[in-house]
Amino acid sequence: MWFFSDEHRMLQETVRQFARTELEPRAAQLDEDEGFHHEPFKKMGELGLLGITVSEKDGGAGLDAVAATIAMEEIAAVDASTALSYLAHSILCVNQIGCNGSTEQKKHFLPKLISGEWLGGMGMSEPGAGSDALGMTTKANKSGSDYVLNGTKTWITNGPVGHAFYVYAKTGTGRKDVSTFLVERGMKGFSTGKKFQKMGMRGSPTGELIFEDCKVPEKNRVGTENNSIKMMMRNLDLERITISGISLGIARSAIAVSQLYAQERKQFGKPIGSFQMIQERLAEASSQYEACRALVFQTAKMWDLGTISAKDGSTEAAKAKLITAQVATRIAMDAIQILGGYGYTREFPVERYLRDAKLMEIGAGTNEILRIVIAKSMLGEVAKT
Ligand SMILES: Cc1cc2nc3c(=O)[nH]c(=O)nc-3n(C[C@H](O)[C@H](O)[C@H](O)COP(=O)(O)OP(=O)(O)OC[C@H]3O[C@@H](n4cnc5c(N)ncnc54)[C@H](O)[C@@H]3O)c2cc1C
Repeated sequence: MWFFSDEHRMLQETVRQFARTELEPRAAQLDEDEGFHHEPFKKMGELGLLGITVSEKDGGAGLDAVAATIAMEEIAAVDASTALSYLAHSILCVNQIGCNGSTEQKKHFLPKLISGEWLGGMGMSEPGAGSDALGMTTKANKSGSDYVLNGTKTWITNGPVGHAFYVYAKTGTGRKDVSTFLVERGMKGFSTGKKFQKMGMRGSPTGELIFEDCKVPEKNRVGTENNSIKMMMRNLDLERITISGISLGIARSAIAVSQLYAQERKQFGKPIGSFQMIQERLAEASSQYEACRALVFQTAKMWDLGTISAKDGSTEAAKAKLITAQVATRIAMDAIQILGGYGYTREFPVERYLRDAKLMEIGAGTNEILRIVIAKSMLGEVAKT
């Protein structure tokens, strides 16, 4: 993008190199095995990627949303699963501790998370509360100098492998009585449940966090009681911007593979790229990718500059994520069509791109929920049901 700083460009080059050498060679196998490798996260720690948005005084890289989105795009261009786990770690957990944690919490959690010794995640969704996140029923009852947590979080990225989690729970009876707790693996009463088998993003472990009379010390509560909604929503907006980088990375690679294939594959004695119906798909894909990229990075830049209100920021983040996720799925689907039978097999990565891209239309707010956010900002009271 024209407004990337020298620092952004250097970061882009570094992450691209890292992704190509460390992630690309094992991406297909990771998907096949539905496995997880901790090692690349330690290398990301050495590169300063894990605390990318955390201030330098707290041990982070002190970079912005544009930088985080660049990192997402570059990682996702070779391995969207690792990008998703990286997002859950760096944006949903580490960034939140950096923004909202106490000095003591930062001191305890950030060094291990930023170095990659620990992997982090965030627990908001529950079996009965997905889109309706405030319908969560996990309770945290005060008991002396502890809180006792009971409930189950589900679909948690890095749940099966993570060491520390940024967890939301109800501390009152109202819908908005939500507080935040930092939970560590090994705490009594805390366990991680089943790991889900998934269609895509198979190298990013997803699972349950289970709390059964889990005692969490008061010092692990982030912020004040019943006061987490604003922090939660602000992070959701940042998540929607940066996760759009993952959609961009998938789309970019799908275009690259299909472009090359259209030049090399011959049918009827000619490269299939000479057929106008193939050309149309490629031209549409390239234009849509560029349009989405401009929107996503402009939204990230506005976020960094603080030039929009929190409310407008939510709408813009929703727009960027909604359109980019749909475009990524469409481009991956078209790439399969361009590759024909080969596209449908695991000889080429485009079927993986499609399976990974679909998650972008569900996680961090489904397409439907994002449309509601956008429509409400356009229609005001009329859109409220
Ligand atoms: C791979 C993966 C990783 C995830 N990682 C995390 C994580 O790290 N942390 C976390 O907390 N959560 C995580 N999630 C959860 C994710 O955010 C939820 O799946 C998502 O918010 C949707 O919730 P749901 O699955 O319960 O669907 P539901 O809310 O049950 O929705 C089902 C369908 O109904 C539609 N719908 C719901 N309400 C409305 C409405 N008002 N109007 C119109 N349509 C509606 C939805 O759009 C959807 O199509 C993850 C999910 C997946 C699949």
